[in-house]
Amino acid sequence: MEERARSCLLRSKDNLEQEIKVSYLMDHMVSDGILTNDEEARVLNKPTRREQAAALLEVLLMKDNRAYISFYNALVRESYGDLANLLHSGLPLLSPVGKRSFADRAILSEGGVPQRPVVFVSRPALLNLIREKLYRLKNTPGWVTVFGMAGSGKSVMAAEAVRDHALIKECFPGGVHWLSVGQCERADLLVRMQSLCFRLEQGQSSDTSQRPPCSVEEAKERLRFLMHRRFPRSLLILDDVWDSFALRSFDIQCRVLLTTRNRSLADSVSGEKFEVPVESGLDEKKALEILALYVSGKPQKLPEEARSIVSECKGSPLVVSLIGALLREFPDCWSYYLRQLQEKQFKLIRKSSSYDYEALDQAMNASLQVLEPKHRDLYRDLSVMQKYIKVPAKVLSVLWGLESEEVEDVLQEFVNKSLLFRDCNQRPYHYYLHDLQRDFLVEQNRDQIAELHKKMIHQYQQFYNKRPPSSGDIDCLYWYRFLPYHMAKAGLSKELYSLMFSLDWVTEKAQIMGSAHLINDYVEYGEILDEEVRLQFQEFLSLNGHHLEQRPFPDIVQLALSQPVCSEVYRQALMQAQKRASRG
Ligand code: ADP
Repeated sequence: MEERARSCLLRSKDNLEQEIKVSYLMDHMVSDGILTNDEEARVLNKPTRREQAAALLEVLLMKDNRAYISFYNALVRESYGDLANLLHSGLPLLSPVGKRSFADRAILSEGGVPQRPVVFVSRPALLNLIREKLYRLKNTPGWVTVFGMAGSGKSVMAAEAVRDHALIKECFPGGVHWLSVGQCERADLLVRMQSLCFRLEQGQSSDTSQRPPCSVEEAKERLRFLMHRRFPRSLLILDDVWDSFALRSFDIQCRVLLTTRNRSLADSVSGEKFEVPVESGLDEKKALEILALYVSGKPQKLPEEARSIVSECKGSPLVVSLIGALLREFPDCWSYYLRQLQEKQFKLIRKSSSYDYEALDQAMNASLQVLEPKHRDLYRDLSVMQKYIKVPAKVLSVLWGLESEEVEDVLQEFVNKSLLFRDCNQRPYHYYLHDLQRDFLVEQNRDQIAELHKKMIHQYQQFYNKRPPSSGDIDCLYWYRFLPYHMAKAGLSKELYSLMFSLDWVTEKAQIMGSAHLINDYVEYGEILDEEVRLQFQEFLSLNGHHLEQRPFPDIVQLALSQPVCSEVYRQALMQAQKRASRG
């Protein structure tokens, strides 16, 4: 590290030691390739936060300019703006290669491309194949389908494929935009498309006041416009697509990389098509490399059980990662975990499944066994999360009734054990389960699911008993989107009634999410709700949907007063109008 940088770091040492929390900073530095897992573990071994900070600075001072820059960037990303300012004057000048890679990283991070997992092994043949197909999109729109079994590493490789300066420069100078699609209904697809439109429109000054598209068709047209006019020659990555209807919604003559389990999905769309198969498991050498990285050893030096473990896992990167994380913590337990994998206790549950996920079940079970019982219960609570949904820590803080500091610690533990994944592209970070892990939880807790949803509702009601969440609450989108879902799953039909037949709820949700999602809720939970009142609300929304998309938001009481006098919508509006009048 050059002298100026070192000196600046030493001058700021006290301030840094006092304030930083190292674990997230180190995540960035590990994924920048600056810190090794070994160094990270050594720092985390120190007993107090301050000693960890001091240890990290010691390690940093031994490193080069890139380490200084990576640390500086990590501070900025983790909102330590003041501390980053202290280091700004010491920033070393970048060589052109350095500058280039930082610019690429910004493109990928703005586009929402996930970072590498902390433990990562390269798969050069597969990577080259994906890149080779992506090069075919250089002069023409089209589709590259990366297909294979769940947990085989498709998303990780799709993200890796675009970490290539030459590829981006030559083929996708307009940038890369990542969207997790997953298995979703029309309304959820709309929410995902809305969020993509929102991201693409950010920073486009003329469009900042655009209302969100209110149907999938409208979203498709908006995307067509954005991709052609604003982001020509960019790449859209659609991760984990299940249905052809979802894929057709992106059939807008642009360049798409999609990951899916269903090879024939792209048959339903038009244009040039290329395919890349992903094998379900890694070969033995690569899988051993993952285990070796977890235990900070050399693949050749692993104990003899390692090969059998890999074979029991069938090379699945997801399962190998779960076992690797356990062995990092319990390095003497190779034969114990091998025996665990060999037990077939989940055979019956999985009989009906079309894939063989037995090894995953065994590995998940082993990971859960080493959690302290309280944390195991907290993990079980995640069974209520919907598939493919990423949540900010605040949602879990409400669900668990814990302070945010404690929640962060629990989440860190789950992430360390590969039981949960963190999306660092969103601020604050969002957390999610791999969908196979979520399947496992649901299977394992099948008899308690309704109770767990009840707990979610109870915790929400306790937390938001004084006022409903508002747009200033980081978790508000979650609750407006999923509260009816949790109530329905909990069998709390009375609560669902009073929520969905409330003009206040309609007002709040429409303001935050638009009317399309609300209408969908009435359709989705139609069987539980009273038919007549449901249709009254639905009709009100269908008639007034266009007003509700306008900003400033209209007076919903006024709109509702034009409903038939016998309707519940009218009755509630009248009551509110009378209350207003009596208040003067
Ligand atoms: P898929 O998209 O096929 O369902 P993912 O790409 O999400 O699978 O991978 C599942 C998990 O497997 C990752 O979260 C990671 O823990 C592990 N994994 C996948 N690929 C690799 C890799 N190349 N190196 C290390 N771990 C990997």
